[in-house]
Amino acid sequence: MLKRYHMQKTEREMTDQNEILKVLKNGKYITLALSLADEPYILTLSYGLDEGSNCLYFHTALKGLKLKVLEENPKVCGTVIEDLGYVSGECSHKYRSIVLSGVISNVLEIDEKKHAMMTMFKHLEKDPDALKERFLKSDSVYSKVNMLKLEIQEITGKESS
Ligand SMILES: Cc1cc2nc3c(=O)[nH]c(=O)nc-3n(C[C@H](O)[C@H](O)[C@H](O)COP(=O)(O)OP(=O)(O)OC[C@H]3O[C@@H](n4cnc5c(N)ncnc54)[C@H](O)[C@@H]3O)c2cc1C
Repeated sequence: MLKRYHMQKTEREMTDQNEILKVLKNGKYITLALSLADEPYILTLSYGLDEGSNCLYFHTALKGLKLKVLEENPKVCGTVIEDLGYVSGECSHKYRSIVLSGVISNVLEIDEKKHAMMTMFKHLEKDPDALKERFLKSDSVYSKVNMLKLEIQEITGKESS
């Protein structure tokens, strides 16, 4: 496991867990770093935050490179950025961001898959019930989609000056 490093610019570290949570709540997608042996792989996924379980849910296709990598190594690190804009003339960017690490597993139980999908709809959509009505009419939907769960183990936040 990577040894936890203290942040160099301690004055920029977000220490209020509620503010860190806000970045995660407001974010729509996360960029995840995966690795297999000495090869890195990176990708971006939309997510739904389940605050109570301290986890993120994702939906994906049934096949693909990320699933192959995760099968071998489920440990990931990810970042969510609240982009507050480039500061012209300063060669600088305003932001708040979080970096988290954790472990990804496949959601296998149908009840948890339903919960995972609704968590995503609630997180991402203004009218989650309308989407439920459109896409989740029958349980057969869940055989065509893969759901993943990222259990968050560590999270840090940082903001620009
Ligand atoms: C904002 C955003 C939200 C997204 N939300 C989701 C989501 O909710 N669920 C989901 O499954 N996917 C989502 N994607 C797409 C996702 O990033 C991947 O492209 C997709 O999941 C396929 O990944 P894979 O590893 O199975 O790739 P594969 O289809 O197996 O392809 C692997 C190959 O394609 C390349 N590749 C894969 N993805 C990309 C990419 N995005 N750009 C350039 N090259 C790529 C890889 O480098 C590799 O060479 C989202 C992308 C963005 C930008």
